[in-house]
Amino acid sequence: MTSETKVSPIYADEHLSCDILVVGAGVVGLWIARLAARAGHRVIILEKRSAGTGASGGVLGALMPHMPERWNPKKQFQFEALGSLAAEVANLEAETGQNCDYRRCGRLMPLVQPHHRELAQQRMVAAAQVWDSNFQWNLLDAPCKANWPAVHTMPHGLVHETLAARISPRKYMAALKASLATQALLLEGEGFNRFDDAVQKVVTTSGRNISAGHTILAAGHETFDILSDMLARPAADFGTPVKGQAALLQAEISDDVPLVFHDGVYAVPHEGGTVAIGSTSETSFDDSVATDAKLDNLIERARVLCPVLETAAVLERWAGLRPKAIKRDPMIGAVPDRPDITVATGGFKITFGIAHKMAACALELASVGHCGTLPESFRLETHLR
Ligand SMILES: Cc1cc2nc3c(=O)[nH]c(=O)nc-3n(C[C@H](O)[C@H](O)[C@H](O)COP(=O)(O)OP(=O)(O)OC[C@H]3O[C@@H](n4cnc5c(N)ncnc54)[C@H](O)[C@@H]3O)c2cc1C
Repeated sequence: MTSETKVSPIYADEHLSCDILVVGAGVVGLWIARLAARAGHRVIILEKRSAGTGASGGVLGALMPHMPERWNPKKQFQFEALGSLAAEVANLEAETGQNCDYRRCGRLMPLVQPHHRELAQQRMVAAAQVWDSNFQWNLLDAPCKANWPAVHTMPHGLVHETLAARISPRKYMAALKASLATQALLLEGEGFNRFDDAVQKVVTTSGRNISAGHTILAAGHETFDILSDMLARPAADFGTPVKGQAALLQAEISDDVPLVFHDGVYAVPHEGGTVAIGSTSETSFDDSVATDAKLDNLIERARVLCPVLETAAVLERWAGLRPKAIKRDPMIGAVPDRPDITVATGGFKITFGIAHKMAACALELASVGHCGTLPESFRLETHLR
């Protein structure tokens, strides 16, 4: 069923037209819409399901920086995004009155081998050089809170870095959607179908035509299928979906402790004594939304890592598909020979921390045709090379 979140009088008549048409209402698409509306553009968002029910509708919400060594433009981009997100979320919360459960909680990482400690010391030096002085990479001998994580996991101490943060994906998505209520037209249950170049319109899955000055494809992993149709190449030339499973547990823990990351397991405390556990990474799967023994195994490993979780009840099991572009980095740029269509996807495992900056770059490309702050490795042409 199609639903329309109405909006401003500019959309009052039945003929749909806009300056910017955003395809996909995940965290990237909603940020593009938010920034475009803020810049005074008339915006329509097409979402074939409901806003925030793709990969952005999960439970984890870890905002983790890249390692500080071998610094490069991609790491700088993410660093700046993680730095600016706190203020962006504060504005969003003030504007909407909705809480996003954002906290700069930091991250703990146990050190298992002697060489892990040596590497951590090198990273401490690197972080002091490339991170600004607001954030530190510290070495500790024991956690500040007993059993978070378990002492046996850290024979050589642990790292405590203060840049990582967390956010509730669902609360964040709800606030982003609310911020657009009077700023844009969100069409849910109505997807992008195709471009009709003869009449220069976008045709939706329900057969409506939309005249758009510019279209931005932010359909997560399904962007690769849209590109495949447009450019007559296999979707895998552009990227693939990578399945992830995660869980939400009810624990006896305050939400002001750092998140824990060890050997591929995340334990991310959220408000209300909940702790999110993530994530599997699956390139082959039969059912994209089913959870299975791989998640059971992850939960068991999290209980060993953080004994506070030993008896924690499982509130929810969840799975989704991350967009992984062909060269692994985010994919942003104008579609070849189509300066009126921009792509913004491929945030893969770090999208929540960078979506607002991905959106700003996509809009700059759409408006002026170039974006000086976009790392070379993120550019669509780099992915297609
Ligand atoms: C288990 C798991 C844990 C994760 N944990 C983290 C984490 O801790 N931190 C982090 O930063 N990232 C994490 N991620 C990754 C993150 O969730 C994704 O990278 C991010 O949500 C992608 O956002 P998106 O807006 O690009 O795509 P999506 O959120 O998938 O949004 C795309 C939207 O486009 C819509 N759409 C598709 N096709 C069409 C069409 N033809 N017309 C209209 N609409 C269409 C879809 O319905 C969807 O709503 C995790 C992912 C998973 C699966």
